[in-house]
Amino acid sequence: MNKIALEEHFSTPELSRRLAAQGPRNGDEVQRRLADFDQLRLESMDQAGIRLAVLSVTNPGVQAETDLDSAIRLARETNDLLAAEITKRPLRYAGFATLPTQDGAAAAEELDRAINELGFKGAMIHGQTHGKYLDDETYLPLWERVQENDVPVYLHPGMLHDQPWMLNGYPALDGPLWSWTADTGAHVLRLIFSGTFQRFPKLRIILGHMGETLPYFLSRFDSRWQFFLGKKVPVDELPSSIFLRHFFITTSGVCDPVALNHAVAVMGEDRVMFSADYPYEDCQTAAQFIDAAPLNSEMRAKICHANATRILKL
Ligand code: ZN
Repeated sequence: MNKIALEEHFSTPELSRRLAAQGPRNGDEVQRRLADFDQLRLESMDQAGIRLAVLSVTNPGVQAETDLDSAIRLARETNDLLAAEITKRPLRYAGFATLPTQDGAAAAEELDRAINELGFKGAMIHGQTHGKYLDDETYLPLWERVQENDVPVYLHPGMLHDQPWMLNGYPALDGPLWSWTADTGAHVLRLIFSGTFQRFPKLRIILGHMGETLPYFLSRFDSRWQFFLGKKVPVDELPSSIFLRHFFITTSGVCDPVALNHAVAVMGEDRVMFSADYPYEDCQTAAQFIDAAPLNSEMRAKICHANATRILKL
């Protein structure tokens, strides 16, 4: 089945240099693939039947930058580089914008430019920015512009701002194995409980990794929210109904038919989309998983490409 994939990463020479300066993280092969927009990437896509990849910069993106002016410059340069690659292969690549979330107004401005001048399909944000999550009041100008442009924001895991004690002694838990999921899940709940979606009723957020465990937990959010109602949470609607109205998920990095089945049952077949998470995950493994998953052909087409076409207006 032909596929569109939405969590497919690249890097720029400057972002790679900055990340490498903080210590080793990605192996040489991953680095090579992040930098490549040609044969390596296209071969992987072709083998997996991925017709179109919506590309985004890799974690932590410019969210890690401490200086605002550098963040603005890096975001612009990253978006320009991606736009130039998309122009070379407009039938194979589309883009999610990189935003300088160090400042809400600057992020809003770059979003506008990326959508309206560069033709990007939305934005990807890598978690919190120096302790500021997206429910922070300073992001109101950004959400306003996201809503005006009617584009989705892909909320991708980012680095943690601090080291919680629960990870102490277990460095393997810090990263994709667990802490990124926990942090992204908390980020989503902050957005839900801050009233962000009441203020901006048209926002659409995409989560990777089969919804970062959240679809599995909706009934517990509702029951505990009702328990605390009026005391700690200012939102007067079930968390599950906010989640199911504003969120979409991708299958990136979770090639498990049982998890997919549950996600589709909870989210509905119109809110689940295929993705691989290249180059950290193998596109062919992801493709074989979705091609063989127990779905009828209409559902498979929606998850593989039709939902993405509609949600990203491709
Ligand atoms: Zn990813």
